[in-house]
Amino acid sequence: MTESSFNQLPQFTIIGTQIQPNSMRGGALLTAGPWLNKVEKAIGAYIHVPFCFHKCHYCDFFSIVGKEDQHELFVQRLLKELEFVGAKMTELRTVFIGGGTPTLLSLELFDKLLYGVRKHLPLAHDVEFTIEANPETITMEKAAVMVSQGVNRVSIGAQSFNTDLLKQLERWHDPVNVGRAVEFVRSAGIDNISIDLIYAIPTQTVEQVKEDLKEAVSLLPTHLSCYALTYEPNTPLLHKLNSGRVTRVDHDVEADMFDVVAEVLSGSGYKQYEISNFAKDGFACKHNLMYWKNKNWWSFGPAASGHIDGQRWKNSPRLADYLSTSGLPPVEDVERLSQDIQVGEAFMMGLRLLEGMEFAWVESLIEQSPNTWRRTVIERNIEDGFLVWANEKLVLTDKGLHFADTVICELLMCNESE
Ligand code: SF4
Repeated sequence: MTESSFNQLPQFTIIGTQIQPNSMRGGALLTAGPWLNKVEKAIGAYIHVPFCFHKCHYCDFFSIVGKEDQHELFVQRLLKELEFVGAKMTELRTVFIGGGTPTLLSLELFDKLLYGVRKHLPLAHDVEFTIEANPETITMEKAAVMVSQGVNRVSIGAQSFNTDLLKQLERWHDPVNVGRAVEFVRSAGIDNISIDLIYAIPTQTVEQVKEDLKEAVSLLPTHLSCYALTYEPNTPLLHKLNSGRVTRVDHDVEADMFDVVAEVLSGSGYKQYEISNFAKDGFACKHNLMYWKNKNWWSFGPAASGHIDGQRWKNSPRLADYLSTSGLPPVEDVERLSQDIQVGEAFMMGLRLLEGMEFAWVESLIEQSPNTWRRTVIERNIEDGFLVWANEKLVLTDKGLHFADTVICELLMCNESE
């Protein structure tokens, strides 16, 4: 899946003081226990369902193929976790069930899981309750269960409508079923539907990106996430790239695709509110905005990451570890973020949002940086035409949007020589 990718630890993160993984600790398992007394600060929850029916070749998320015999045990275990943590929570404004493929669960388990979320978590009356779905696994019955259990937003992983391009990704679904899935969800009563697309797929042309956008827009989603394909470490796709079996789309062509995505979607009434995310008025994803604004959220399930007050942790990405524990799941990759890293990440998240960063916020972040080195970096990027002050907000220019990763990286990293 792609829309929930922010629940994976951000790729630019610099690990501050990192605690050894449980596998190296030998003693008691590390859990998110230290943050449990602050769980009432969480305004969102991410729930990871780690099962898929096939492994897509670009995917580096924690997902397990097969193991159907573990689905029930997993749901039982998850329900206990929801009950235990949920009792200590206050009010959640967003819940996101991602994966993996949550809709792969049988109808009965799917219903149990959603019922458990509704029963155990303190959902705000206007909660945004999203579930990620694979087009092949949405049925009319599952759509009806979603509605009866309060799901009000569905994010469908289309990625492309071109069978050859889906094959390049080793993505197993028939593009026809995207429309069918949208139809099931909409006729069950959920109008807030997001579609994920990937561009810059090997062999893809700009014309094919336009065709994918046209197909997606014709389904009238309220939201679209369009990410350029990335070649993640330890994925079959990266091996194929390294062995010459696929060729990366040329950089300039990828930049043209990025422009086409923005042009076509803004021409179709979608507002680009984040570099890769577009929404009709009032339909920006509240859950992802929570990540990008660095708010507090709790994580449920294996490999999910949570964040409370500048401390981030990731649950162990091993199903056996998860199933063999009964309280909080074991945790790995705890990060205690230094103030400088928190400032860098605020720029990383803030600049990805097209609304930009308020002058006072930027000033206070600069003051928190040792030697105020970030002021120099910002001024240089303004001179080079990558950043601009517009209506008292610091924003990426059109040119800056194409080099967002570079600009953000410069502001993220502490560079003593500045
Ligand atoms: S459906 Fe594909 S991309 Fe999504 S989690 Fe499963 S393997 Fe990864």
